[in-house]
Amino acid sequence: MTEAWGPGGDDGQPRRGATGPVRVRVPAKINLHLGVGPLRPDGYHELNTVYHAISIHDELTARHGDTLTLTMEGEGTGELALDETNLIIRAARALAAHTRVPAHARLHLRKQIPLAGGLAGGSADAAATLLACDTLWGTGLSRDELADIGAGLGSDVPFLVHGGTALGTGHGETVSPVLARPSTWHWVVAVADGGLSTPEVYREIDRLRDAGTAPAALGSADSLLAALRQRDPAVLGAALGNDLQPAAVSLRPALADVLDAGRAAGALAGLVSGSGPTCVFLATDAADARRIAAELATTGVCREARTAHGPVAGARIV
Ligand code: ATP
Repeated sequence: MTEAWGPGGDDGQPRRGATGPVRVRVPAKINLHLGVGPLRPDGYHELNTVYHAISIHDELTARHGDTLTLTMEGEGTGELALDETNLIIRAARALAAHTRVPAHARLHLRKQIPLAGGLAGGSADAAATLLACDTLWGTGLSRDELADIGAGLGSDVPFLVHGGTALGTGHGETVSPVLARPSTWHWVVAVADGGLSTPEVYREIDRLRDAGTAPAALGSADSLLAALRQRDPAVLGAALGNDLQPAAVSLRPALADVLDAGRAAGALAGLVSGSGPTCVFLATDAADARRIAAELATTGVCREARTAHGPVAGARIV
């Protein structure tokens, strides 16, 4: 990537932007703990979550252009609208409005994160766009400033700007890094056919709670945070939890078979990722993850079983 003087800022000084393409890789997220509190008057649920970035990545390339355009390849091509509703376009426009530069870029997405899978692919793409366009336009915002703009686009965007493992509170948009001694965790990711709508899954957990058929809410993430510090996958496996899991399984009963199949294949633990329908399984090590993925793939309970590790960095230029 080379640099050039870009459009001027508020101070009339030209900005140093990139001349060549800017390529950004951004990870998917899973939630090691997803505690869902009551519905707030503003329509959001109060969350206590531990985000964890894993090594399934989307890649966004930004080039200079005369207008704002978006093309894509990979997961969801032909299904995902590339118009003003796309979080990539919305992120580019939000950054342009914030920094008062024209929203001009040719954007291309290589998507590997399954659509509507509970892996926050859309939020990941928004985080990647903020970083790519900030670099392309030379607007020079900090990660924290990009995360603040991202919070207006989606609850998971600030986390995906930062990556790693982090505690999320509020409706997930307030993130603070989890300071654990570095450990790598190995996962099997069971990708489902078709997605689940996040708002629908939240409505379903409210319905199950109103009917008195939902398990007790998980509450704080303290036990998960303590388990992370022990660096023992069996301990971490026992501490994983997701309040949305009963709702996702209620809407998609076949997920119970996926969870059973992963455990039968020898996973330490399995859970629905976020609002689903992706299920993730914790393995002892990388070889164990490969073995579980291969076995899961033969059962036919999921479209695809991938291996991944975490934590990984958030959006970054490659
Ligand atoms: P959430 O972040 O709500 O948990 P998810 O991980 O289940 O969502 P996403 O892949 O982020 O699922 O997509 C949710 C919806 O967001 C999609 O169905 C789509 O309509 C919309 N969307 C907008 N832009 C994008 C994008 N760039 N990638 C994926 N989805 C997008």
